[in-house]
Amino acid sequence: MRYRKPKYYPDFQCIAGSCPDTCCAGWQIVIDEGSLEKYSNIKSDFGTRLLNSIDWYQGTFEQYHRRCSFLNEEDLCDIYRELGPEALCQTCRQYPRHVEEFEDLREYSLSLSCPEAARIMLSAKEKTEFEETEDSVAENEEEYLEFDLLLFDCLEEARELIFAVLQDRSLELSKRMAVLLRFSFEIQEALDKGELFELELEECLEAILKREEKGSFKARFRNRKAMADDLRKLEVLREDWRKEVANLRAQLYDRGEETYAEILESFWKVLKGSGAEGDWDIWGEQILVFFVYTYFCGAVYDDRIYTKAVLSVFSLLWIREILLERWYIRGEEPKLENVCRAAWEYAREIEHSDENLDLLEDIFDGSALYTPENFLPGLTI
Ligand code: SF4
Repeated sequence: MRYRKPKYYPDFQCIAGSCPDTCCAGWQIVIDEGSLEKYSNIKSDFGTRLLNSIDWYQGTFEQYHRRCSFLNEEDLCDIYRELGPEALCQTCRQYPRHVEEFEDLREYSLSLSCPEAARIMLSAKEKTEFEETEDSVAENEEEYLEFDLLLFDCLEEARELIFAVLQDRSLELSKRMAVLLRFSFEIQEALDKGELFELELEECLEAILKREEKGSFKARFRNRKAMADDLRKLEVLREDWRKEVANLRAQLYDRGEETYAEILESFWKVLKGSGAEGDWDIWGEQILVFFVYTYFCGAVYDDRIYTKAVLSVFSLLWIREILLERWYIRGEEPKLENVCRAAWEYAREIEHSDENLDLLEDIFDGSALYTPENFLPGLTI
């Protein structure tokens, strides 16, 4: 079995009581069967508290004012404090660590929705690197009877090529995004036509890199406004998010294209003046690499390659729009801590709801807005 993880992966350590947005509030924590069984057998006062503070039917911790009922006033976990780290349920033990399983490969990542993980990812100036190890453990063949190894090899190879483009800092970030989208689109088309294995990935990518993509401000405005409408179709996990999306549309788009252009121009001046222009692209690169690493090869299970690429670009564009709006309304500067906050808040809404991830991919698949012809011109300005 092969194992792959980003090099920063072991650096993560939960900052618990110092966390600006603890994961023990704001969403339901599902408890695994083994932990439920363990909790039901604890005979002490704390065992009684466990019995009374778990929704045994749903298998979740009860919440109090949207906080886990075991989260104490210092934002520390009482289960951890009373019973030790081994007593945490699987979700709490693993989060924000995430695992994607493929036939002979296990990929580890940290979730962008955790503030500390976001800080680790986005504060790195150097390009994200991955390390791979291997052991002699064999995969469970029965679990992977239908696994398409040929498609997976192609996706893995394509993703390596995509990483090289996304991390090529001699290219503008909008160009890197455009190449990611076009390249994934070509691979998708080849797969759909049953011609995937005739596609020479490197040659295809070379041709795309030479291509000039024309952009227009009109397309940018039209696309962002339509994307805001698509975001409003998603399940909302936190009420604040609903307000954020509504506010963003009202402040940035509803007042027309000219106002939006003025806001954007002033924002660019601030960004240049603050000296954070270079960091802006590095943050963007790290976010794109994160999404491509975490999702792209998952297309082996649903054949949706292009929508995974759109998800990566959509996520970055949206995080940037949140920053634009927060700068405009609240005067928040585009600096690391604000970028991290926008990234983790976005990721909490999108990544932690399978329903939202699926719906977004359905939207990208079914709407003309996200075809390369319509989506790409909105990137380049
Ligand atoms: S969100 Fe991350 S840093 Fe914060 S409490 Fe949870 S695991 Fe720890």
